[in-house]
Amino acid sequence: MKYIGAHVSASGGVENAPVNAHEIGAKAFALFTKNQKQWFSKPLTEQNINLFKENCEKYGFKPEHILPHDSYLINLGNPVAENLKKSRSAFLDEIRRCELLGLDRLNFHPGSHLKQISEEECLDTIAESINITLNKTKGVTAVIENTAGQGTNLGYKFEHLKYIIDRVEDKSRVGVCLDTCHSYTAGYDIKSEKGYKKIFKEFDRIVGFNYLKGMHINDSKKDLATRVDRHDSLGKGFLGEEVFQRIMNDPRFDNIPLILETPDDSLWEQEIKWLYSLIGIREIRE
Ligand SMILES: [Zn+2]
Ligand SMILES: [Zn+2]
Repeated sequence: MKYIGAHVSASGGVENAPVNAHEIGAKAFALFTKNQKQWFSKPLTEQNINLFKENCEKYGFKPEHILPHDSYLINLGNPVAENLKKSRSAFLDEIRRCELLGLDRLNFHPGSHLKQISEEECLDTIAESINITLNKTKGVTAVIENTAGQGTNLGYKFEHLKYIIDRVEDKSRVGVCLDTCHSYTAGYDIKSEKGYKKIFKEFDRIVGFNYLKGMHINDSKKDLATRVDRHDSLGKGFLGEEVFQRIMNDPRFDNIPLILETPDDSLWEQEIKWLYSLIGIREIRE
């Protein structure tokens, strides 16, 4: 079964996210559990936590279909000791917030080397950051998102994800999230049928579908291998429609959160309906 949703607003309190998701007909959702542009946020209150759980229950959202995203400020591979410390403590706080909300996974971007260390050193630092955090917490899986490779961001190759996973001690608590826009602009041509087959086979060989804990379903404003991260509404960008039809009919993407991060939130309800309508349509025009 496919669990499709969007990265909805949690403004006014995390408890509003499941309500916002329900209103657009979502069966899954993503949220920020704190302000994604600030280092510090108020702790979650007992009331936030209870209402969040109540609303999830009321609208039928299970933890395995909810994919919280961490703050954009966090860089778990930061080459500067003081900044790395700040990122690690913020990441720990993010995981603890997930624990409090009864959530089982946290999605994050691996990190950036800022041209001060090698890619390898940066990936080692990221893995160490994950290990430190997992050792202090329980029940939450660290879900590494693949990136477009903009600037000095790592995670734009499946090999990067694999490199990090290999160095995480508790393999049961590490996973990945594939973003369709990031994959495409990183240079993975999932648009054509041939490319789709080849790339997901490659993903399975290098990383493994057993690690896939979520997907971000976005079209792209930028073309293949541009290394630029600009999401577009479905069918309006360079990816077109067929790739989403393939994903909707591919059982390898069953039972994980499939999350829209498309720019026009007024289209989310329609986009979710459209994605569900593709299920069962196997005839694909090239
Ligand atoms: Zn992301
Ligand atoms: Zn994403």
